[in-house]
Amino acid sequence: MNAPDNPTICILGCGGFIGSHLLGRLLSDSSCRVCGIDLTSAKIAGYLSHDRFEFVELNVHDTVAVREYVSRADIVISLVALCNPSLYTTIPLDVIDINFTRPLELVRMCAEMGKWLIHFSTSEVYGRTVSSFMPEESRGTVDESRYVLNEDTSPLVMGPIKAQRWCYASAKQLLERVMFAYAFEKDLEYTIVRPFNFIGPRMDFIPGVDGEGTPRVLACFMEALLKHKPIQLVDGGKNRRCFTYVDDAVDAVMAILNHAEAAKGRIFNVGNPENETTIAGLAETMIALYRELCPECEEVEVEQVSGRAFYGPGYEDSDRRVPDITKARERLGWEPCTALEPALRATMSHYIREYREACAYGKAG
Ligand code: NAD
Ligand code: UDP
Repeated sequence: MNAPDNPTICILGCGGFIGSHLLGRLLSDSSCRVCGIDLTSAKIAGYLSHDRFEFVELNVHDTVAVREYVSRADIVISLVALCNPSLYTTIPLDVIDINFTRPLELVRMCAEMGKWLIHFSTSEVYGRTVSSFMPEESRGTVDESRYVLNEDTSPLVMGPIKAQRWCYASAKQLLERVMFAYAFEKDLEYTIVRPFNFIGPRMDFIPGVDGEGTPRVLACFMEALLKHKPIQLVDGGKNRRCFTYVDDAVDAVMAILNHAEAAKGRIFNVGNPENETTIAGLAETMIALYRELCPECEEVEVEQVSGRAFYGPGYEDSDRRVPDITKARERLGWEPCTALEPALRATMSHYIREYREACAYGKAG
């Protein structure tokens, strides 16, 4: 890791899905000290007594306290977010606040104190793809390369204001622009990560067991499998995503930390272009894997649902996003190496181990 040799890293949102995996890796594969801030430590309980880790239960709205922890760190990694699409159409003000207003304070602090800020944005900043403006019948004529999204050349295309789906993406996009401007005018040292649908153990929650509401698709489908409910395919499940295993994603963050000079002042797509599937294809693969992992379990059905019925008015979807990862390959020497099936197998095995009993005994609402 670049200077200083044993840095102190402050991770905001350390108790979440990505934070929990990153923390584990930093404690096992580096000698840095980590200060982790979050509202909850349930997913990182196993690290709380580690001598190089300090957990701070803190709401990032407490700017004075956040400033204190940032001042003690060499590097700041920001993961705090509300990032489940079901929230974008139901609590958009909170989504904008936590994805723009709060991290704006953090950007200002890091610029003022000269801290390197590694910020997690989202692949959602690319918004809709060009083809989504075209009539369905002519989409097949779009040059495939238009779907491959590049950090420095692709347009960022948001839907109309009434389509509140885009409030998250717009908040994240504006923050990226602010960071760029702070670097331009005030010498902020920053790196932006744009994750493409990471999956893995500890992602989100199973509704009624350890959370409420609608999680992201992987956990929605796992809930259906574990509770023998129908899997719900939104708008035919025709949209596509490139699912990326969380260990590969953590490799990318480690590569950023280890190549500080190559990473500073840059945006990186972090995703696996080889793992593209439609959501209907994801459901099919997960059903087949579940049959293999739990041969005694009942089969589940697949049910069609409209985006409006599932998420409420204001929902729109991103039809396809494939990352161009040339920059991460060339500058960081990073390469994702986990194919979709092993990624799903590892993830699903974890969910089955952790949740099967709770789901079976009806604690699960
Ligand atoms: P997550 O929801 O699991 O983690 C976010 C963490 O932030 C949670 O532990 C939560 O408790 C914490 N948090 C929320 N509000 C807080 C507050 N007021 N004060 C303190 N902590 C608070 O999400 P994740 O999947 O780990 O994502 C991490 C980052 O990566 C986010 O910025 C997200 O937008 C971005 N991202 C992730 C993905 C993905 O595939 N996981 C995709 C695109 C972008
Ligand atoms: N989706 C679905 N069924 C569900 C949950 C999600 O078909 O139970 C779809 C959703 O409409 C989107 C895709 O799965 O097309 C990915 O959704 P997710 O919430 O994981 O995140 P996104 O990539 O949209 O941010």
